[in-house]
Amino acid sequence: MPYQCPRCGEPVHRGYSAGPGLVEGASRAGLLGILFGIFFSAAFGDFQCKKCGKIAKSEFPPEARTKMRTKMMAMFLLILLVIGAIALAIVSGVVAIGR
Ligand SMILES: [Zn+2]
Repeated sequence: MPYQCPRCGEPVHRGYSAGPGLVEGASRAGLLGILFGIFFSAAFGDFQCKKCGKIAKSEFPPEARTKMRTKMMAMFLLILLVIGAIALAIVSGVVAIGR
């Protein structure tokens, strides 16, 4: 569900102004870098309106900001889960090799 621009009511999207740099940094940092890159751009990235340009999060109504926070928490938990799964796979792999 796209958020609505608080100024003109048009749907806004995330501003990926750090796009190429993010991808480059992620490829260097690997999978965890990509996950954290996605998380941080989603958590701290600005919204972009086609008509009004950059929209600060503080301009959105409280219920939209609550939704953003909930989404951010869900994403954070998902990333923790993925990291946990990767760590488990590595640990169980190490145990299997050690045997
Ligand atoms: Zn707008």
